[in-house]
Amino acid sequence: MSAQINIHNLKKSYGEFQVLHGIDLEIAQGEVVCVIGPSGSGKSTLIRCINRLEAFDDESEIAVDGIAVVPGRALAAVRAEVGMVFQSFNLFPHMTVLRNVMLAPMRVRHSSVKDAEARARVLLDRVGISEQADKYPENLSGGQQQRVAIARALAMEPKVLLFDEPTSALDPEMVGEVLDVMKKLAGTGVTMVIVTHEMGFARQVADRVIFMDGGNVIEAGPPAEIFDNPKEERTRSFLHAVL
Ligand code: ADP
Ligand code: MG
Repeated sequence: MSAQINIHNLKKSYGEFQVLHGIDLEIAQGEVVCVIGPSGSGKSTLIRCINRLEAFDDESEIAVDGIAVVPGRALAAVRAEVGMVFQSFNLFPHMTVLRNVMLAPMRVRHSSVKDAEARARVLLDRVGISEQADKYPENLSGGQQQRVAIARALAMEPKVLLFDEPTSALDPEMVGEVLDVMKKLAGTGVTMVIVTHEMGFARQVADRVIFMDGGNVIEAGPPAEIFDNPKEERTRSFLHAVL
């Protein structure tokens, strides 16, 4: 039985600078993994490699559902299965909320307008913003925009959802509403890989916490183990600084 996401010897450099030093990681279907670690440790780069928003070394291997994440036709298949939510929402400003959520299924899956709209409305309801459907992103709060971004990612019925610090750009009072949506998603069967600084959330929701530093996975385990009984000194000092 193979994992849903298989990462083997993942190396990535920007010019001379090596960011990832040969990461090995297997993530099971439905697993919720939180990635923590200091700024610059390679967390974003790691998750951006999973759908190849970043290219990686030829000797490295990533597979999603057994499909190798290599340039070419198979990449579109992987990307259709892997949704991504960014720190900066990245909604299309010239489209209404509803259209933002309808777009990918229509473009990529060739869904009819009717089907795409029906599904978009269900998803907007699920993230608690059905009444904002006809507004433009700029007229929504940051928390609402991020919930739209989650609905938009869900519209493709992804098997994997990648989150890169989804609450870091939000005013503090809006963090909770986005984390609540993510909590509801955890346990629905979708695999989630979440880069976050929200340690309380990670402790509560993650099946596994991965601590990265200097482009390596330093330690990984259940939240209770990582937060309460970390083995590595680097994990301890990071947690000491942030908790
Ligand atoms: P994190 O998400 O953990 O903060 P990143 O994955 O964004 O870390 O970055 C890891 C390292 O790679 C950092 O030192 C960063 O400066 C560097 N880096 C990231 N993106 C680029 C890029 N496009 N060009 C050059 N260096 C980069
Ligand atoms: Mg980052």
